[in-house]
Amino acid sequence: MSEFFGTVTQPNATEAPATEHEILDVQQTDCCIVGGGPAGAVLALLLARQGIPVMLLEAHKDFNRDFRGDTVHPSTMEIMEQLGLASSLLELRHSKLYQLTFQTPEQTVTIADFKRLKTRFPYIVVLPQVKFLELIAEEAKRYPNFQLVMGANVQELIEEDGAIKGVRYRGHGGWHEVRASLTVGADGRHSHLREQAGLKPIETSPPMDVLWFRLPRHPEEPEGIQGRISSGHIMAMLNRNEEWQIAYIIPKGGYQQLRAAGIAVLRQGIVEVVPELSDRVEHLQDWSDVAFLSVESNRLPCWYRPGLLLIGDAAHVMSPVGGVGINYAVQDAVVAANVLSSPLKAGNVQLSDLAAVQRQRELPTRFIQAFQSFIQQQIFARAFNSQQTIKLPILLRLPILRDLPARILAFGLWRVRVQN
Ligand SMILES: Cc1cc2nc3c(=O)[nH]c(=O)nc-3n(C[C@H](O)[C@H](O)[C@H](O)COP(=O)(O)OP(=O)(O)OC[C@H]3O[C@@H](n4cnc5c(N)ncnc54)[C@H](O)[C@@H]3O)c2cc1C
Repeated sequence: MSEFFGTVTQPNATEAPATEHEILDVQQTDCCIVGGGPAGAVLALLLARQGIPVMLLEAHKDFNRDFRGDTVHPSTMEIMEQLGLASSLLELRHSKLYQLTFQTPEQTVTIADFKRLKTRFPYIVVLPQVKFLELIAEEAKRYPNFQLVMGANVQELIEEDGAIKGVRYRGHGGWHEVRASLTVGADGRHSHLREQAGLKPIETSPPMDVLWFRLPRHPEEPEGIQGRISSGHIMAMLNRNEEWQIAYIIPKGGYQQLRAAGIAVLRQGIVEVVPELSDRVEHLQDWSDVAFLSVESNRLPCWYRPGLLLIGDAAHVMSPVGGVGINYAVQDAVVAANVLSSPLKAGNVQLSDLAAVQRQRELPTRFIQAFQSFIQQQIFARAFNSQQTIKLPILLRLPILRDLPARILAFGLWRVRVQN
């Protein structure tokens, strides 16, 4: 399925720059957003609501992906409410998670208790990301100045006079060009635009990798997310109604060794952590049932170039700790819209405007990455060593700081609000 809304201008020989590809058409918009994930889709909606011509280019033909983030935190729920979409989202099939806990054989440790937060949404909504994205895209389609092109694989930045002037993408029978006063790269952790722009992230290396797979879920089993630690293994299980989407966390670099040991060893590890799964672990027949995610954490020192801004995972990949990636991507989108709407309407986006977006988002990003790194060292690295007892770090056990993790995971350093 492919979709297109909006007008197309035919190639104009005087405008199209020299390129080795035959360009089928040249389209013009104010803001061209590459990537229809949470960051790109929400930014497109926010700009569309303000009457700004915006084009969203997504490489896939639908929003469905295997093994993506499925958590909508209180910060994003508040943003959805500001957009009038919270009740529509809550009408979709979902479960609610009021606490983030993990169970060890000895105890249950609560990392974050959202019930104590002052918000209308004191919980994480767990629902397939595709449903969230479809809701946003449907809302954006109400605005005639919004264009969505699915199956548009952006491959080139157009650079003229030292500034980015748009992109070229492959899709719909060949090459197409989009010219825009601002291009936004929201194309995820392997951002092609970031690479094309020559922007290099600073990498840190979390001590773990993740194997993702699905196993059947029985209707009477608990809702939400289950975290379990036992015998040097860690698992997080996300309720996807008829299935558990499971993250089996392994020490960094341990995948090849586990794979060589065979799928039976993985099954055995799963049952050691969650004995209840012994009745269905055989569903994992071979390694094709398992997706490997190399856990990364990085951030760009500079999120922009003239005419180009990077947001979401393209600007900062988050570790999976606390499942905050979607929410930071959405917050980036809100700040970008707050800062850039007026310059876009005036047709005059300055480098200082792009710098202002980074300035507002960099500190919260660095802060959450430091918090994730702290939890990784204090809990995950210890958990891999089956001899060590897992306890909540002493700091987080102090009554005065008890609500801090929930606040940090729910909102970050401060709340982000839609201003227009
Ligand atoms: C397995 C896994 C589990 C995760 N679990 C969680 C979780 O539970 N909670 C959470 O908050 N976060 C989670 N995350 C992280 C979360 O998914 C990301 O942080 C979030 O999706 C980032 O949003 P984004 O819009 O920046 O990028 P993405 O969601 O990656 O979206 C980028 C989009 O750009 C498109 N694209 C890429 N290249 C091009 C191109 N050249 N042309 C056009 N389009 C392109 C892609 O198809 C994609 O749709 C998880 C990530 C993974 C990989």
